[in-house]
Amino acid sequence: MMKASDTRAILDALIRCRSLTPDDAGCQPQIVDLLAHRSPQHLQLDYGNTRNLCLSWGQGSPHLLLLGHSDVVPAGPLDDWDSDPFEPHERDGQLYGRGAADMKASLAAMVTAIDQRLGGDPLKGRLTLMITSDEEGDAFDGVQRAAPAMVEQLGDIDYCLIGEPSSKHELADTIRVGRRGSLTGRLRATGKQGHVAYPALADNAIHRLLPALDELAGHVWDQGSDQFPPSTFQIVQFLAGDGTSNVIPGQADALFNIRYSTAHTEQSIQQHVDEVLSRHQVNASIDWHLSGRPFYSEPGPLRDAVLQAIDYTGLKPPVCNTAGGTSDGRFIAPLGAEVIELGPINASIHQVNEHVRITDVDRLAELYTRIIQQLL
Ligand SMILES: [Zn+2]
Repeated sequence: MMKASDTRAILDALIRCRSLTPDDAGCQPQIVDLLAHRSPQHLQLDYGNTRNLCLSWGQGSPHLLLLGHSDVVPAGPLDDWDSDPFEPHERDGQLYGRGAADMKASLAAMVTAIDQRLGGDPLKGRLTLMITSDEEGDAFDGVQRAAPAMVEQLGDIDYCLIGEPSSKHELADTIRVGRRGSLTGRLRATGKQGHVAYPALADNAIHRLLPALDELAGHVWDQGSDQFPPSTFQIVQFLAGDGTSNVIPGQADALFNIRYSTAHTEQSIQQHVDEVLSRHQVNASIDWHLSGRPFYSEPGPLRDAVLQAIDYTGLKPPVCNTAGGTSDGRFIAPLGAEVIELGPINASIHQVNEHVRITDVDRLAELYTRIIQQLL
């Protein structure tokens, strides 16, 4: 049987795979090999270039899903790294490498935790490990498609534990119990181009659009709640004019993104934006893109198990929040499962010199083991 201390060696091997999204680069086959002696039911739910590994044990309910991703974001400027991003490197109690925190440490910890649990009494339900290689990319062929296909074959998910790096300063000081929604608008305002000397003959698209954008940027969408921070509207790009000083632009483009709580729907947000634009008499068209709806999991058996595991390990009670970007949890929550994210410290993720605290690697495996034991 593997021990929590075997987690580090598994993590090292995973970091050596250059799994730039959506390339799994051999991560999932390694995990299949590591758990082969536990005779899992093995589903490979691949779509397009994305590999979605699914290993499952036991049967019936409750059904606990451990969810993760093998892909990583690009390393960025190699010269800014103090060591090779795809060669694990130990310095000052930290292990450096792309994906160390997001989220190969969690994958390694899940593997040892599953092996430990399967070495004990028979499961009281079903345990499934699902790993996608398309979380950091467009996430179209990953969990969004694989999770419903898995449910069709293995049954509904009751609890989903995701290994996303949720911790802030100390391991397990923060867990995610939901996520905000993310809605993007690509707006084009149309006026009438003309000579700056004859503004009466033109309709300045910038002048039209700016006051409306200003109102939207200043709008208080909500005050936030115990579960969610206040919803936010951010303009991320504004383009207009051609650089000449004597032409009134007839067109202005803005790109904006809204991070929002369950107090809103994408329809209610779109309605508000439309209302502000029409009140300012902006002739606008908007292409909307919904990246993920907000979700929140009420406290349930999974949250109990996570809190107990954290307490048992001698760590302080965590903050339970919904901060951060979206995660693959957005595809699981609508399937009816209680969803919680618990993983290592996220301070360095997607940055150069990404790292994970070495002592946290084994501790994470202990946390996951205890959570599985509690539920199954
Ligand atoms: Zn991640």
